[in-house]
Amino acid sequence: MADDADVIVVGAGLAGLVAATEIVDAGKHVIVVDQEGEQSLGGQAFWSFGGLFLVDSPEQRRLGIKDSHELALQDWMGSAGFDRDEDVWPRRWAEAYVAFAAGEKRDWLRAMGHRIFPIVGWAERGGYDAMSHGNSVPRFHVTWGTGPGVVEPFERRAREAEASGNLSFRFRHRVDALSITNGTVDGVSGVTLEPSDVERGQSSSRNVTGEFSLRAQAVIVASGGIGGNHDLVRKNWPPRLGAPPKNLISGVPEHVDGRMIGITEAAGARLINRDRMWHYVEGIRNWSPIWPRHGIRILPGPSSMWFDATGKRLPSPLFPGSDTLGQLQYIMSTGYDYSWFVLTQSIIKKEFALSGSEQNPDLTGKSWRMTIKRATNKGAPAPVEAFKKSGADFIVRENLEDLVSAMNALSRDHLLKLEYLKAQIEARDREIENPYVKDTQVMNLHNARRYIGDRLIRTAKPHRILDAAHGPLIAVKLNILTRKTLGGFETDLDSRVFGNDGKIMPGLYAAGEAAGFGGGGMHGYRSLEGTFLGGCLFSGRNAGRAASKAVA
Ligand SMILES: Cc1cc2nc3c(=O)[nH]c(=O)nc-3n(C[C@H](O)[C@H](O)[C@H](O)COP(=O)(O)OP(=O)(O)OC[C@H]3O[C@@H](n4cnc5c(N)ncnc54)[C@H](O)[C@@H]3O)c2cc1C
Repeated sequence: MADDADVIVVGAGLAGLVAATEIVDAGKHVIVVDQEGEQSLGGQAFWSFGGLFLVDSPEQRRLGIKDSHELALQDWMGSAGFDRDEDVWPRRWAEAYVAFAAGEKRDWLRAMGHRIFPIVGWAERGGYDAMSHGNSVPRFHVTWGTGPGVVEPFERRAREAEASGNLSFRFRHRVDALSITNGTVDGVSGVTLEPSDVERGQSSSRNVTGEFSLRAQAVIVASGGIGGNHDLVRKNWPPRLGAPPKNLISGVPEHVDGRMIGITEAAGARLINRDRMWHYVEGIRNWSPIWPRHGIRILPGPSSMWFDATGKRLPSPLFPGSDTLGQLQYIMSTGYDYSWFVLTQSIIKKEFALSGSEQNPDLTGKSWRMTIKRATNKGAPAPVEAFKKSGADFIVRENLEDLVSAMNALSRDHLLKLEYLKAQIEARDREIENPYVKDTQVMNLHNARRYIGDRLIRTAKPHRILDAAHGPLIAVKLNILTRKTLGGFETDLDSRVFGNDGKIMPGLYAAGEAAGFGGGGMHGYRSLEGTFLGGCLFSGRNAGRAASKAVA
């Protein structure tokens, strides 16, 4: 039987598009298969904030940030905490990826027209010691144009290849099996789904119209993670994080269903680190949802006070933006799966950003005029104000007593005591006046404001939470929001997949989230942020290059 293409890529998300365009560049023919319709091309990356982990970039240098490959590697290893036998390839991927982020990543993208917003964000700030979790310096580079701006160069290259006949898309084709002949993966089979005209990101029908099978010399699995499938998230939930949350909201569309991971595993591929996941603890229910249980992540600045469900302040250093996994672990240890931010209008105005391309029309639309308003506006950005007004998790009140009683009414648990919250907030407020602070969160505020980027658009001037001049008071109920899958198929640096027998499975490659962004989990336990899109770029590129070299 003749081959339909040299290589088949499963998944038209970022990793799949990057792999496919590399294959075409190498003069080979590729078919890209996706269960969704053409309108969802680009997968999750389209919805993303477009934040990229870069090291020692011109943007950092312009802001006076001194970064280096050594510092980034120290931070990465401290965050990853590799501690398992199966971390051999993840660790090699981590080293290669940090070198990529400190090396050719930015120039490679720039040559394709990618551009970066000049103020670098500071995510996952840690707060432990120098060898532990966190970014020692700001490294979160937001794409000018957010997620769509990351997808755009690869979509453009793919469309050009499509026009010249070297790439073909098969949308609404759902892969149900890999075919293997004499031990070599040589194709995929599955069903065609009825055409769907839902909007991008909405759930599409799964009604079957026919069957298909395709043959090639190699198959690249780039099918994403499991975050849209809460059953799988709960099944893989690690005991070290307590019992799986009862209430979860989804930070990804429903097509992030993990089904292809099971199919690839059933074909003999070795899936490792499945219990490592990256879910956020600052999730809010979207008042205007696109996909089922749609939640948005608040990218918080450092000033909001953070309380668990019982009203106890989260311990140091679990402040907003410090340590996502540590916060998740702490929250799950309380026996409740939610927590609270308490803040002021001055804080929300300067510090709340919402992750997602559609929540940042200024950056996504590449509008300088709108973006500058972030620094100069009286209110918060319009999407944040809309959440404040219409979001089910937001409470706005003029005084603490009313705020606490509305918080109790919202949670229905009635665990919060006014006097307890008041005492903690007043104690923190006393430290604001004190130049020799002992409250670590307040120290962090002063530290953050030494960075010009934070002072301009990310960290409110320190003030008392109970100072009415900065009011009204705001409380936000924070839910756990599923997002990224850190484990995946074990791969070598050519993205070739290992089988359960420990040997490479000929013809099979994996990239992006399905490969744990490379190696089966290059992040280890934790991410420094902006590392997922970059992981798709790097592993998709490696997979595409290696597969096209391997095929005749
Ligand atoms: C709101 C949001 C904000 C984010 N912000 C950032 C950020 O700022 N920085 C960052 O680094 N990361 C961010 N991310 C994460 C990042 O976008 C994703 O991890 C990444 O895009 C995953 O890409 P992927 O190609 O591996 O998978 P996906 O984008 O999930 O694509 C996989 C594709 O495979 C298809 N597929 C699956 N199974 C099958 C099958 N059986 N047959 C056929 N097709 C199949 C799916 O339909 C899908 O189109 C964000 C994500 C979201 C949702």
